[in-house]
Amino acid sequence: MKLSQRAISISPSATLSISDKAKELKAQGQPVLSFSAGEPDFGSPQAACQAAIEAIERGETHYTPNSGIGELKKAVAGYYKKRFGLEYSAGEILVTSGLKTMLYETVQMLAGPGDEVLVFTPAWVSYVEQIKLADGRAVPVDTSGNGFSPSLTEIDKSITGRTRGMIINTPCNPTGAVYSAKTLRMLADVAVKYDLWIIFDEVYERLTYGGARHVNILQAAPEIRDRVIIANGVSKTYSMTGWRIGYALGPSEAIKKIDGLQSHLTSNASSIAQWAAAAAINEAEDEVERNRAAFERRRDLICGLLSEIKPLKFASPDGAFYIFIDIRGTGLPDDMEFCRRLLEEKYVALVPGAAFSAPGYVRMSYACSESDLKDGAASIKEFVEAQGQ
Ligand code: GLU
Repeated sequence: MKLSQRAISISPSATLSISDKAKELKAQGQPVLSFSAGEPDFGSPQAACQAAIEAIERGETHYTPNSGIGELKKAVAGYYKKRFGLEYSAGEILVTSGLKTMLYETVQMLAGPGDEVLVFTPAWVSYVEQIKLADGRAVPVDTSGNGFSPSLTEIDKSITGRTRGMIINTPCNPTGAVYSAKTLRMLADVAVKYDLWIIFDEVYERLTYGGARHVNILQAAPEIRDRVIIANGVSKTYSMTGWRIGYALGPSEAIKKIDGLQSHLTSNASSIAQWAAAAAINEAEDEVERNRAAFERRRDLICGLLSEIKPLKFASPDGAFYIFIDIRGTGLPDDMEFCRRLLEEKYVALVPGAAFSAPGYVRMSYACSESDLKDGAASIKEFVEAQGQ
């Protein structure tokens, strides 16, 4: 079988493949605890489900405008105005089949062969692969020496004449870091200095804990509006991962181009899911806060339990729902081996840091029940302690 170079060079999503493997083992009757894919375990909001049912009953089961229904764009615009004081018109918003598609389309529009895009590592699995799919080059900018926040020194070393843009993700998957207004201001200045695009992925913006506060980059640097594409969606905020609704906000010229690409790719996102997403944004605010508070309790619980396992090192995450653990003190050769053996011996699924361009770490999602967290932590403790014997 002859395959394209592109097909050969792409690595499948580690988050999804590990979660599929965990599901497969579970289906075979194994007592698997999966902390792999980041997926809230709460039900989708009642208002969203009801809106979907009503959309079907009204016959909203056909193509919608390629860029999304007006009602959802209005909900998104109203949300951005209220939450961040940012004004976006319908022509500056594009609804997509999940945030992943939105990011793919945006990268395709902003970067071509040989173009470089800065990715702050540890970084979510798909950024690097999506840049590769555009024949571009993902340039990793390591944040591990700076509390998982980008530093100007590291960025300066990475900029070349081919740099086209950067992807910012705050709160960050996998580290849980929440970038300060000062950091965002610095990144905005870099973008202006070198004439770069910014893809600003804030899909975890509602999930911050303790004193941490999420800042949108345009609150820190309003004057760079024309070079920022904001990426968001309903999956994490409203526990609506399966509905596949993401959206982009940006200057109309760029949005129009991305819309054009989408017209050859997925066309509109699911009509029914779009109605559900609009209802979630307009009506499910109470559930957002309730779920956030539950994640914060879980964060505190898992941090407490893992801190009893001495060879593991981690910082308590300020946002998202992942804990990123340094396993280099455990005596195991690497993170891949750590995850493979933990799954085979203890039936606990974590994602190796290598998937996030950060070998030596593992990612644990705490978007699951407190009892699973307790059982999982106990198994990890047994596993790690057995290595020292
Ligand atoms: N974004 C989530 C994660 O990192 C869901 C899976 C994926 O799309 O990567 O686990």
